[in-house]
Amino acid sequence: MLTCKQFLQELNDYLDPSIDPETKRHLESHVAACPNCFVVVDTTKKTLQVYKGMEPQAVPEDLKNRLWAALERKIAAKKKVQA
Ligand SMILES: [Zn+2]
Repeated sequence: MLTCKQFLQELNDYLDPSIDPETKRHLESHVAACPNCFVVVDTTKKTLQVYKGMEPQAVPEDLKNRLWAALERKIAAKKKVQA
């Protein structure tokens, strides 16, 4: 099973239409099981739609950093609740 960090590192590949199907399945199984990453994927897709029509590009670094920071806060908060 992927960790959220590993998933985020693969996020660009996941959103790449030319992704290898096996990798995509692997990443999709994480999104299906992880509400946090589902939100990250959803937000990223919506944000990337803004760039549609412009030259193709990867997920902007600042967006990725913001999502990552939000995700880490969520994970930290969840850990606190469980402890
Ligand atoms: Zn996750």
